[in-house]
Amino acid sequence: MADQLIRNVVDPKGRTVDVHMASDRIAAVGADLAIDVSADVDVFDGDGWIVLPALAEPHAHLDKALTAHKVPNPKGDLMGAIEAWIGAAERGVFGLEEMTARAEAALTKLVASGVTLVRTHVNVGESDPELMHLRAIHAARRSLAHLVDVQIVALMHSPMSGAEGAGNRRTLAAALEYGVDLVGGCPHLEADGPGMIDVALTAAAEAGVGVDLHVDETLDANMLTLRDLAVAVIDRGFSAPVAASHCVSLSMQPIGVQREVAKRVAEAGIAVVPLPQTNLFLQGWDHHTAMPRGITPVDVLREAGVVVAAGGDNVQDPFNPVGRSDPLETAALLVMAAHQKPEVAYDMVSNDVRRVLGRPTVDIAAGSPADLVLVRSRSVREAIADAPADRRVYREGRLVSVTTSTRWIDQRP
Ligand SMILES: [Zn+2]
Repeated sequence: MADQLIRNVVDPKGRTVDVHMASDRIAAVGADLAIDVSADVDVFDGDGWIVLPALAEPHAHLDKALTAHKVPNPKGDLMGAIEAWIGAAERGVFGLEEMTARAEAALTKLVASGVTLVRTHVNVGESDPELMHLRAIHAARRSLAHLVDVQIVALMHSPMSGAEGAGNRRTLAAALEYGVDLVGGCPHLEADGPGMIDVALTAAAEAGVGVDLHVDETLDANMLTLRDLAVAVIDRGFSAPVAASHCVSLSMQPIGVQREVAKRVAEAGIAVVPLPQTNLFLQGWDHHTAMPRGITPVDVLREAGVVVAAGGDNVQDPFNPVGRSDPLETAALLVMAAHQKPEVAYDMVSNDVRRVLGRPTVDIAAGSPADLVLVRSRSVREAIADAPADRRVYREGRLVSVTTSTRWIDQRP
C-alpha cells in the first residue's frame, strides 16, 4: 500500500504542516517533511484544507435509512414514526435486498462525509423471526468492510420483560447466536422498565457483549429509567461497555436531580449519546409555548465525568424526514441547540465517539491511527459552519473517498 503525504495542510491548532502516513499510522507531522517521493508515496497538496480526526457515527439506524419517500409519518412524533414503520413492515414494503441496498447507500454517504466508524441499531423482534433486518445489515457491513467499521446493536422490540416478552427474548437469543455486538432496546416503552433493563443486562452478560439502550426518549419528567440503568449496572458489577442514547427526560429534571443522576451514570461508567436531530424533530409536538429542545444536559453529564458523544440517529425515514448523513450537521446542532463550543462539538462527533465505541483516539501526531478527514476549510469552526462537500477521507492510512465540488458564479456586471 502506498504511503500518503499531505503537504501544507492546516491542523486543528491552526498550524500549517505536512502529514505523512505509512501503513495504518501517522508516521510524521511537521513543516516541510523530508520524504523521498520517488518511492511509493501519493502526494496531495493540502493548501486550503484542514486535517482532522476522522468523523464517527455512534448511533445510526441503517435498516430504516432512506425510507422517508415510502414510509410517511403524518403525526410527526415518535409514536407516529413507530406506527408508520410497523404498518409499512406489515404491508411488506421492506425486503432483504432493498434493505441491504439502502444500508449500503447510507453507509456510503457517511463514508463520503468522513466517517470511518459506525454503530448502528437494527430492529430485532418476534415479528421478524427470520432476522431479515439483521441479515441485511450484516450483508451491507461485509460488502463495505474495506471502507468502514460497523458495530451492530440488536434494537429489541418491546416488550422484552414479563410473559409477553417471551417471543422477543427468544428472538434476541437467535440474534446473539447470528451475531450482534451489543444488546439494545427501549426501557421507557416497557411497562416494567427495570425488568427490561435486567433482561438486557443478563442476556448481554451471558453473551459477553455490551449494551446500548434507547433511554427515556420522552419529555415526560416522570420517566427516568437512566437512573434505573445506572443502579442496575453498579449493583451487578456489569463490566462490558454500556451506552445510554437520547436521555431526553433528564433535560426536564431540576438541576439537582440532573446532577444526582449524572453522578450515578459516571459511577456506572455509562456513556451518554445525545441525538439532536431526532430529538429536535420528534419531541415537543404537544408544547405550544416554550417548546423544549429535548437534548440531554451535556455539560452536567460531562462535569460529572461522563463520556458524551453525539450521533445523527435517523436519516430520511419516518423518524426524521431530513438528515444529511454528515456528523458536521450533528456538530452544528450541538453548537446551536446544546451550546457547545465548536471544538468541543467536533470532539463529540469524532474522538468522543471512538472512546464510546472502544477504539483508540486519533491525534494529528506521529504514532496515531491514520483515520483522518480533510475538509476544505481553514478552521474547525468554519468546517462545522460551512460543512463543505469537499472532503478526502483516509482510513487506516488508505484514501477511501474523495468528494470535490465546483462552483460557477456569473462575474459579468
Ligand atoms: Zn435511535
